[in-house]
Amino acid sequence: MQTFQLFLRRANLVALCGLVLAGCTSVSPRTEHITAEIAMSELVAGNDRFLDGGMHAHTWQAERVVETGEFGQAPSVGVLTCADSRTPPELIFDQGVGDLFVVRVAGNFVDDGGTGTFEYGVSALGVHTIVVLGHTKCGAVNATCDGKPLPGSMSAFTRAIQPAVAGVTGLTNASEANVRWQMKRLTDGSEILRTAVAKGELKIAGAIYEVDTGKVRFLN
Ligand SMILES: [Zn+2]
Repeated sequence: MQTFQLFLRRANLVALCGLVLAGCTSVSPRTEHITAEIAMSELVAGNDRFLDGGMHAHTWQAERVVETGEFGQAPSVGVLTCADSRTPPELIFDQGVGDLFVVRVAGNFVDDGGTGTFEYGVSALGVHTIVVLGHTKCGAVNATCDGKPLPGSMSAFTRAIQPAVAGVTGLTNASEANVRWQMKRLTDGSEILRTAVAKGELKIAGAIYEVDTGKVRFLN
């Protein structure tokens, strides 16, 4: 196995050098953190690659598996997004193994489990940027706006989203309002996250993914 891993690493090093020589700057192993500025610019660049078909994350996943398996993970970016099958963050941001620390739940709402997950990500793993990523045509947001009772445990997400969308018209507007509400919930509900933001050690950003176009639109 070690021989295979050495081969894998050498083979990927050759590929890595080739990509660097070709002018690609987003292929470094992620066992160390990148800055918040670089992280955000790489998310934007990754979504551009996703849109134009020039995705390259798949070309260095094998190297990432070896590196992160041996040296551990150091994700710089956390993502809270919907369970919707159209919103896989690693794909739409063209990111690799070890890049994103992800929580997914219908309606991308914050609960104790999600808050605790990001507290761990920030405290133990060094996550310094969290993106709350909603999307257009979200079924969970739509169900909340409809206001009809849901069976089983599905009312968990409508209860969590309802305060965000009260009085808001239009589904996309409601999704944006939900993103902003959940961003607030992250800091309101966590002293660890609130303190990190106050110290400038954590940035929380909001964005909407457009399921018809594949474009991620960051909110002001
Ligand atoms: Zn959704």
